[in-house]
Amino acid sequence: MRVTALGSGDAFCSAGRGHTAWLVDDAQGTFAVDFGATALLALKRLGRDPAGIGAIHFTHLHGDHIAGWPFFLVDAVYRGSRKHPLAVSGPPGTAARLQALWAACYATAAQRPLAFAVEMAELLPGAQVEIAGRTIRSYAAQHMRAPEVGLCLRIGPVAFTGDTGSIPAGLCDGAALLCAECTGSGESTDRHLGWQTLRAQLPEVPRILLAHLGADARASIRPPPGVEVCDDLHSVEL
Ligand SMILES: [Zn+2]
Repeated sequence: MRVTALGSGDAFCSAGRGHTAWLVDDAQGTFAVDFGATALLALKRLGRDPAGIGAIHFTHLHGDHIAGWPFFLVDAVYRGSRKHPLAVSGPPGTAARLQALWAACYATAAQRPLAFAVEMAELLPGAQVEIAGRTIRSYAAQHMRAPEVGLCLRIGPVAFTGDTGSIPAGLCDGAALLCAECTGSGESTDRHLGWQTLRAQLPEVPRILLAHLGADARASIRPPPGVEVCDDLHSVEL
């Protein structure tokens, strides 16, 4: 299994980093977790064909996590001629938000049906579902203002925090890898994890990747063994 940070930065592309998103290659194929505005660029820099992605799992509906969707579609429609289905999951409202984004960016194309099926699953926290051959468990992230919902995701052996002010109980149980946001160098806020808090309460996971880095995060983090601070396209083999 290979896990790659398509981007490693926060919403502001601090320090020139792309929006944080993850690409995972496993026995079932390839999936992405989040797909922000810079994700397609990252795939192309890796020499990866977006058609190889079988599923995209969105943690929440902020632009730095979803704004690559119209570019994913426009690539699939005009360059790639995708015909095979794409599984998509996200919190409630994902289908409508993605369609609005597509229509806002490519109004004419969005009026036509896609040549491939988008198999949409909207997940509430606490859900456990099978998508594209993998077990997905969703947890409540501490990030969005109600009624919007943010999710932390457990997909097979990998835990993803998305954006959250704290890591929910159970997310990391038995995980082989944690892909965590680490927006700041100081204490966690009510919406984002910070290194000072995270370091004091590191989950018991053999390997931890830090991304969603803010402007001051990289320089201030001295990662202990088992923790890696990602740059864009940082990749690990499990
Ligand atoms: Zn966010």
